[in-house]
Amino acid sequence: MLTIICQCWLCQQRLYHSWHGICCYCRRHLLKLPPCCPRCGLPCTCPDLPCGRCLSEPPNWESLTFVSDYAPPLSGLIKKLKFNGTTPLAPALARLLLLRWLDAFRHGKVIKPDRIISVPLHRWRHWRRGYNQTDLLAQPLARWLNCHYSNMTLQRIRATPPQQKLNATARRENMQGIFRCKETIRGQHIALLDDVVTTGSTLNEIAKLLWTEGIASLQVWCICRTL
Ligand SMILES: [Zn+2]
Ligand SMILES: [Zn+2]
Repeated sequence: MLTIICQCWLCQQRLYHSWHGICCYCRRHLLKLPPCCPRCGLPCTCPDLPCGRCLSEPPNWESLTFVSDYAPPLSGLIKKLKFNGTTPLAPALARLLLLRWLDAFRHGKVIKPDRIISVPLHRWRHWRRGYNQTDLLAQPLARWLNCHYSNMTLQRIRATPPQQKLNATARRENMQGIFRCKETIRGQHIALLDDVVTTGSTLNEIAKLLWTEGIASLQVWCICRTL
């Protein structure tokens, strides 16, 4: 039987607009952020300028838009989406990201992308889970912003062992050559989307590939950034 969720995913308050998923009180709380570097997303003193880390060793993308730190209650919702099959959460989380992005857009900090690219899972992991959570986040964002989206743009050609136990150099080596671009993206403004960004080594590797494909600009979007 199809049940329609009309309550906030966090506080169970009844929602006026059921498709929002998260009520305005919880949303206000979730969208509070300390000053963060516009390029890497890590805390800094001046949120309008790239931080010292980005000046000495810049990431391969130009800006990073994220909702919040990877901490409760948002981390709990991401785990539900990823590991419990709670897929109706995806549009609610995507909407938080949309609001954050619109705020940056209105302040002239980001441009509207032509295409959204989601970070693919290896096909075995995709098959076991039945879906790619990042794909579910990308679909409504592409619809709302009227950008091109296909979950076939990038392909992961081999699975990687979990990254958590590796140091930065080993992570980079672990990631090399594992993605392939399957569509023409030359000259396009790209938004690269992942659910959670930790060290950014996966995104940096994909970013390198996208630049070699001749893209015009690259912004990174994620729901949570580990601060
Ligand atoms: Zn709420
Ligand atoms: Zn930075």
